[in-house]
Amino acid sequence: MALGVVVIGALFAAYLIHRSRHRQRMLQSRLPGAAREYLEHNVWLYRCLPEEVRERLDGPVNLFLSELTFEGAAGLEIDDGKRLIVAAQACLLTLNNRTSRFARLSSIILYPSTYVAKRNRHDGWLVHSGEDALAGEAWSIGAVTLAWDEVVAATSGANGGHNVVLHEFAHVIDYEDGDFDGLPGGQGPLDPAAWRRVMQREYARLRRRSVLRTRSVIDTYGAQDPSEFFAVITEHFFHKPHELFVSHPEVYGQLRSYYGLNPVTWVVAPEAQEPGGGGDTGVPHGEGDGAAGAKQDETDGEL
Ligand SMILES: [Zn+2]
Repeated sequence: MALGVVVIGALFAAYLIHRSRHRQRMLQSRLPGAAREYLEHNVWLYRCLPEEVRERLDGPVNLFLSELTFEGAAGLEIDDGKRLIVAAQACLLTLNNRTSRFARLSSIILYPSTYVAKRNRHDGWLVHSGEDALAGEAWSIGAVTLAWDEVVAATSGANGGHNVVLHEFAHVIDYEDGDFDGLPGGQGPLDPAAWRRVMQREYARLRRRSVLRTRSVIDTYGAQDPSEFFAVITEHFFHKPHELFVSHPEVYGQLRSYYGLNPVTWVVAPEAQEPGGGGDTGVPHGEGDGAAGAKQDETDGEL
């Protein structure tokens, strides 16, 4: 019995060492030139990135592609281009080395377009059953679901500040500490107290604006809960950084510190004349269903 425990322990230790070396090797690797050209051609946000950021992105993208499984749903075929488009945008959130680089994630499921999910809403003693058209979901069990037409909408241009890939993977890093609470997990922000002070204040302001229906640079979709707030400001940070910087400088500052990036200094690339990436298009949002262990994002919100 004792020998068996020792053997199992040794095998597990060997696995951990092997995995750690593999991750380090991947993180130091470069993307092939053809992959960079594909991203340059198909992903608006990638075209905005300075060369220094692209170099930092290479290794995490290779790691992402080597560790995570992609599955096509409802007949959608998965190819290297789709994998690359998702990976390059998701990994922008991990360049600060303060996340686990999606270590708790195992699979990404792509639907051709928005898909329908059934769920229950509780209203006092009543439970209302309904269906929602979803653009994406981030599951606590280690999966992300995306509607490909929504992904393509995000790749083709600024898209009004919306990007379903950034949104759902922001939920993933939010959940690294076991809660969808708007405080990113892993090592988290450099100054958690300052993060909470700024984010709680701005979230409360957004909720008031949502009730009063007054205009806000931050989409009122983020007023649903702190996790949606974090996901929405993450989208805006990358897709409309100048507006966020001017209107909410402290929010921008916290995100700049956390992500280790400063998008207001990037050159804004022209938008595509027609959606690239081999798909179609859209935008995200919805209400999280805590009981289901997922953040679900509908298409009929404004994000
Ligand atoms: Zn969400």
